[in-house]
Amino acid sequence: MDLIDTHCHLTFEPLADEVPAVLQRSKDAGVTSWITVGTNLEDSRQVVELAARYENMYATVGIHPHDAEEGDERALAALEELARSEPVVAVGETGLDFHYNFSKQPDQKRVFAAQLEMARELDLPVVVHSRNAFDETIEILDRHGEGLKGVVFHCFSGSAEQARLLLERGYHISFTGVVTFKNAETVREAAGVVPLDRLMVETDCPYMSPEPVRKQKPNEPALMVHTARLLAALKGVNLEEFARASTRTAQTFFALG
Ligand SMILES: [Zn+2]
Ligand SMILES: [Zn+2]
Repeated sequence: MDLIDTHCHLTFEPLADEVPAVLQRSKDAGVTSWITVGTNLEDSRQVVELAARYENMYATVGIHPHDAEEGDERALAALEELARSEPVVAVGETGLDFHYNFSKQPDQKRVFAAQLEMARELDLPVVVHSRNAFDETIEILDRHGEGLKGVVFHCFSGSAEQARLLLERGYHISFTGVVTFKNAETVREAAGVVPLDRLMVETDCPYMSPEPVRKQKPNEPALMVHTARLLAALKGVNLEEFARASTRTAQTFFALG
């Protein structure tokens, strides 16, 4: 089995201190490729460096809505330069987070729109983070997202109705351990309407450990098999079939070698 963790933060503590061991446990569990995601300029530099060192590891570079206040013209230009590096397969994560509002909403919107323009220019897909801001995220994508190579809503925790709105626009949807949580029936209903050629799976580690190991901290790529197993059952296929399908979806979406 060869699953891809399509969204992890291997530069974050405590995972960053033991990457070789984390990757070995991951491979032993059947999660054999990783996309490690940048969240600000400095972190994006680190993910590019990390991904260049390991086989089957790729990077995305972006400015997370939490860090949007650092997204001035100079930072965006440096990010674009970095996005041209070899292991980079997408722009992001970028988007809107109106749950925490760590950055001011106008900054979040401006830096999100700028990264959409950047992704179009570089012909790269976009990894979108959207929390408590579904309508505003769609509004910006509708305005600035035309001609994008691809869009994935990561850590999707919305409804089936919202999932349909994304599918109609041709977007992909990615699920974390949230879909395994006991109180996440709405998210499971959403996963039910996403066809396998639009569905991806991720850990978002070190956060979001799935059931039945939700108490295990930090989350790491090896634990993604629990999420994959639940999604397979939801889609009515066995784990092997699910792995083949979701891996193919991720390889196509991110144009992995
Ligand atoms: Zn995120
Ligand atoms: Zn993330």
